Amino acid sequence: MIKREIIILTIILTVLFLLFGTDSVAAEDYNEYGIYVNDTKLDKGSTMQLFNGFHYVPLNKIKEYLNITITEDKTTNSVVLMNNTKRVKIINAITVELEDNTKVQMDAPLIFKNNNIYIPVLSLVDILDYNVEIMDDVKYIRITTAVDTVPVGKLMDAELNIALAANKTADSSYSRVAYLTFDDGIDSKVTPIILDILKQYNVKATFFIIGNTIEKNKSLLNRMIEEGHSIGNHTYTHIKENIYTSGAGLQAELDKTNVALYNAAGIKTNLFRPPYGGTYIRSAELQAVLSPYRTILWNVDSMDSRSKSITSAEILSSVISQVKNKKSAVIIMHDSGTHMETTKALPDIIKYLKENGFTILPILEDTSIYYQY
Ligand SMILES: [Zn+2]
Repeated sequence: MIKREIIILTIILTVLFLLFGTDSVAAEDYNEYGIYVNDTKLDKGSTMQLFNGFHYVPLNKIKEYLNITITEDKTTNSVVLMNNTKRVKIINAITVELEDNTKVQMDAPLIFKNNNIYIPVLSLVDILDYNVEIMDDVKYIRITTAVDTVPVGKLMDAELNIALAANKTADSSYSRVAYLTFDDGIDSKVTPIILDILKQYNVKATFFIIGNTIEKNKSLLNRMIEEGHSIGNHTYTHIKENIYTSGAGLQAELDKTNVALYNAAGIKTNLFRPPYGGTYIRSAELQAVLSPYRTILWNVDSMDSRSKSITSAEILSSVISQVKNKKSAVIIMHDSGTHMETTKALPDIIKYLKENGFTILPILEDTSIYYQY
């Protein structure tokens, strides 16, 4: 292994450690997602990949379509990316040096693999000014260079149109849509505060519930339903070993939560949010178990669970910085007992979304979601 690779590996492991604690996260293929650049579909060899929970695309394959030139400098361990409007230098795979010499950190590092450089989709938007939409329903990512992009659902390609026509595009009639999602409840202290705020602002949200909290919070579950919120399954125990070790384990986790939901409130749900993110559910065995479910991920992280000391102001600014260029925002927040700061940020998050043209909707079982980055 050459020195540069050792440095990069160290950075990646450090980032992984910061993001995921001591969990080891294997890079897994997300290779069924095709790539469009504007209205050109790239060949089968170019697919999006999921590494460590982040969406990546192969830079070497998309560069001609995006007019990006790549210059690697091994002596300074840097990569310079240049397109028609931008020139950025990425040092040690993670630090971006802008033209005015200011430096910012990428959300996830470049990954060097199989003679290719993979760049996080977020970075295409943040540092190179492209627009990106991820369409989970039709398994395509679309990168666009123009500001005035064709809205999702109106792509020229026949294959995409057919695939999209098969889906309900419930949110296409709104110019901007936001989905507030709360994971890890029900909590007897935090959840009622969140419900009060949602009621005060007349907003419906989606709660991904941990099944083992239901028994002692039946009335709160029924309140959620009565007040028009949507309910999703977030497994029964939220314990990684119980959920992801086998298909049978995942099945039991899902079933137990559905039984608890049914016993407490007479409902079932086909909405599922995977604890710890989408990285863990890529195996065929787990996908088979999940086939009756709709897996709901997110494209805006409020960061409310990234650090115990995060403040409401930081949560608010995380959300604002990520929604500001989006038409479609699935925002992840948490309503378990340690998330009082989330309750303090929530009114301002709702106000910001409303003032900036977002329609706030619950995720229903047939809602089509576009994970636009
Ligand atoms: Zn969770």
